[in-house]
Amino acid sequence: MLTAAQLDHAIAANWDRQVEWLKTLTGFPSQRGLEGPCQDWIAGSFRERGWSVDRYVLSDVAMAHLPGYSPVADTDYDKAVQVVASIRAPQPVGRSLILQGHVDVVPVGPSDMWSQQPYGGEIVDGKLFGRGACDMKSGVSAMVFALDALRTAGYLPGSDVYVQTVTEEESTGNGALSTLARGYRADACFIPEPTGLHIGRGQIGVMWFRLSVKGMPAHVAESEQGTNAILSTYRLIEALQQFTRDLNERVKSHPWYSGLASPIKFNPGKIRGGDWASSTPAWCELDCRIAVLPGTPLDAFRQEILDVVMTAAAADPFLAPNPPEVIWNGFQADDYVLEPGSAFEAAVRAAHQAATGEEAKDWLFTGVTDSRFYGRYYDIPSLCYGPSGQRMHGFDEYVELDSVKQTTRVIADFIQRWCGLRAI
Ligand SMILES: [Zn+2]
Repeated sequence: MLTAAQLDHAIAANWDRQVEWLKTLTGFPSQRGLEGPCQDWIAGSFRERGWSVDRYVLSDVAMAHLPGYSPVADTDYDKAVQVVASIRAPQPVGRSLILQGHVDVVPVGPSDMWSQQPYGGEIVDGKLFGRGACDMKSGVSAMVFALDALRTAGYLPGSDVYVQTVTEEESTGNGALSTLARGYRADACFIPEPTGLHIGRGQIGVMWFRLSVKGMPAHVAESEQGTNAILSTYRLIEALQQFTRDLNERVKSHPWYSGLASPIKFNPGKIRGGDWASSTPAWCELDCRIAVLPGTPLDAFRQEILDVVMTAAAADPFLAPNPPEVIWNGFQADDYVLEPGSAFEAAVRAAHQAATGEEAKDWLFTGVTDSRFYGRYYDIPSLCYGPSGQRMHGFDEYVELDSVKQTTRVIADFIQRWCGLRAI
């Protein structure tokens, strides 16, 4: 085993290079559908390390039949590049590992509301700014440079390690699912999402759906002869908000989520509709995200949403005979909790303790991560542990560089505890 001093020394030796790498990675505007150049750059960087690289696109992989698959609209899977690097040990001395991170990022919004360039990777007072800097390109840099640190110290992992950079984490999770469909397996999956150096053992389920609502167009001067699809949609939003309040009451009996205030969040996130300011809108489309009540099968939960929407529509004289359509067009994600007591979690905790002198705290996420695929469907224990930062999905997202270094240290130490080491 490498000592604390040896690990710190190796991480420090590569630190400037790691920050530069993270800055470059943050510079790619890898929003949905635009991840290719980012992934190709990563694949090149992995090949430079001598790792064997599997680069493929999602349309190469049959996975619509697999549990956890989410239906997709409006995106081209011919362009959805995934990267898996394999570092194989001819004679394994420990347990195998998947290190996984997503490189897709959410849109930046109006960039004049940023005080830094959204993809500039500016560093101010130890914080690196940019969309995706925190969520989760920082974590991706930590998993890559943890392996670099071991190499600098003269070692490779003692068992097989797969380094995966995926897309679609922010919309479906199908990138993670594709790695499993392609056959990659290990004894554990570590995902360095930005958990603030906490053990991210669980996450709520999430569902996306689109409401497609009709209206009757009329000249505004005689608007009582028509209906307004935008205002009708607003009434459906109110019904879903009430449903969300009810769900937050029901979740109070859940063993893990009862301790959180309002873990079920509903978000009408994107809206379009209407054709003309002086015509009542004949159509409206609303993209929604809602958390799934933990423990509820997805089929049953979809039915509950349908019931809420159709009950509200039935009370409207126009929508009753012209009901809205509900389209499942993204996340259909189950919840997942890694129960305490695994050898995997113990090894992560030991590495955190060694780096910080403190016991790691637990963290439950009221959003979604890719860990559900490994832990829930493939029996590969999975947890999240990674850096600290702020304003994920907001303006001026940043990561604290000290926490990136800490995460790198914890991952490197965890790898030697979990996989063992072999001298180069
Ligand atoms: Zn993330």
